[in-house]
Amino acid sequence: MIRVRFAPSPTGTLHLGAARTAVVNWLFARSQDGELVLRIDDTDVERSEAGLVKEIIDDLEWLGIDSDSGPVFQSRLYQPYNSAYAKLKGDEAAYEKEGALWFRVPDEALSFEDLIRGSIEVPPGAVKDFVVRRSDGSPTYNFASAVDDVELNISHVLRGEDHISNTHLQILVIKALGKDPPTYGHLPLMLGPDGAKLSKRHGATSIKEYCDAGFLPEALVNYLAVVSASYGEEEVVAPRGLIEGFSLDRVHSSAARFDSDKLRWLNGQHIRLLTLEDFGERLSVFLDHDPNKAELEALQTSGATLVECAQVASLFKQDFELDGEARKALDAEGATRALAALASKLPASNPSPEEAKKILSEVRKGLKADGIAPKTSMKAIRAALTGCTSGPELHYFLAALDSAEVQRRLAR
Ligand code: GLU
Repeated sequence: MIRVRFAPSPTGTLHLGAARTAVVNWLFARSQDGELVLRIDDTDVERSEAGLVKEIIDDLEWLGIDSDSGPVFQSRLYQPYNSAYAKLKGDEAAYEKEGALWFRVPDEALSFEDLIRGSIEVPPGAVKDFVVRRSDGSPTYNFASAVDDVELNISHVLRGEDHISNTHLQILVIKALGKDPPTYGHLPLMLGPDGAKLSKRHGATSIKEYCDAGFLPEALVNYLAVVSASYGEEEVVAPRGLIEGFSLDRVHSSAARFDSDKLRWLNGQHIRLLTLEDFGERLSVFLDHDPNKAELEALQTSGATLVECAQVASLFKQDFELDGEARKALDAEGATRALAALASKLPASNPSPEEAKKILSEVRKGLKADGIAPKTSMKAIRAALTGCTSGPELHYFLAALDSAEVQRRLAR
């Protein structure tokens, strides 16, 4: 059976790169009817924080990455470690020096077959003897990780390429314990758009920050999946489709570049796909009032993030300033006629979005016949109604904003 693990160290919050590793493991497990184990690599006791464990678990849950077993805490697995030390010592695969236990590395070339990068080999002497148990009795990461992968029956280890050099050490430990190593696959790092290591400089990096900025978990998972593996033409894919379309041989072997515009675009697409009710629920934490159905419909088309959609809600307030672009749009030749044309076509009470769409289309066509370009007329109408030149789809906005207020804004 396919059994993988995601093994974060609780020394920081869940950032994009780690979430990407989690997503790939999850997609692989779910697409193979396998299992995902959540393992908390907390053997570095000094740097591990209990609060961070909870945050990481919450972030994974928010992303929808469910595991079948765990969290398993490495620090609680001392029992198997003790018998492993004893076996290594008994077989003279390890020796004591200055209170620590050292693994004796044979003087030969070491290699393994990586699922994503092919054969990886180092010459004799490249890997030196290494500590498996520190003098304070605690296990080192390379030892603990190797023993745990065996103990937890892990079939595939999928992780970032920064662990490639560790893999040689871990395979040595596992083989010395008389066990079979899992299959390894190392994912290329995710880089910033400038090709440098992804960092704060490139904007938000922790999952929590994305949540607070109004990103949807399904959009993040969609993005992290498509930067990691090739999918078909379709870019906006729900989690189910991401699982169905996943296979390890489609995982990219070259570095992924983080593209925040693409993520924002995907997020907007996922927002539009929500049912109105679901959208309303998710938006509510960002709003200070209860919008009606028409307003919600307008807001759902209006931004790339929930925060942006919520900001558009302020356009429903009575007063707003025109921004520079809006002023220009209203100074354009034909702008005033466009506003008058719409004012004369609107019914006394609010139209439905469909009716509003029809009215706008008639106004646009009529004005076009009179030589006023659709771009000019629609920009002017938008500017008069919202004070800016981008925002919600106009027909939803016309349906949502009180009809008397619409007339007031056009007259103004
Ligand atoms: N705890 C390690 C890390 O966060 C991952 C170890 C592994 O996947 O083997 O980088």
